[in-house]
Amino acid sequence: MKKSAFFLDRDGVVIRQVSYLHDPELTVLEKNVPEALGRIHEKGMLAVVVTNQSGVARGMFSKEDVEKVHARIQELLAPYGERIDGFFTCFHHPDWTGPCACRKPAPGLFLQAAEALGIDLSSSVMAGDKFSDLESGRNAGVRKSYLLMTGYGPKYADRARTEGFAVTDDLLSAVEDLFGESR
Ligand SMILES: [Mg+2]
Ligand SMILES: [Zn+2]
Repeated sequence: MKKSAFFLDRDGVVIRQVSYLHDPELTVLEKNVPEALGRIHEKGMLAVVVTNQSGVARGMFSKEDVEKVHARIQELLAPYGERIDGFFTCFHHPDWTGPCACRKPAPGLFLQAAEALGIDLSSSVMAGDKFSDLESGRNAGVRKSYLLMTGYGPKYADRARTEGFAVTDDLLSAVEDLFGESR
């Protein structure tokens, strides 16, 4: 049987927004993330990061630097007994590397994850802090996409509400909304 996933943008969702982050030392978890991941896993869902890292296309840092940040995220989650089940990254940018099928809002990263991890997209959800994250969820055919008020979220709140997307404080509130709980 296929699994459902809670797809997560990385910067401004799982970790604090830092532009073109590539230093594991500057990698800090966003609020309530370990608890949110705990609830996601309790419900039998996977927690899968889908992230655009065009700094690689721009020559600002390497794929290895991105891997180091992802390893640091796992290290920060380990004391809570938590983890990310998969990282799927677009390293491209149309101006430097030409068009690609994976840069959000395209659904390529979701399709890669679905194939690699056996995920049913129609029962999965997405959480992000930019409008393009919501569009990527819509393009991938997930059942619901949340705009979080962490990271760049406040900038996109009005547009998200106008277009009928759910808007919540942080990842934990999105998780609670999905599972019909409240704090
Ligand atoms: Mg982001
Ligand atoms: Zn790409």
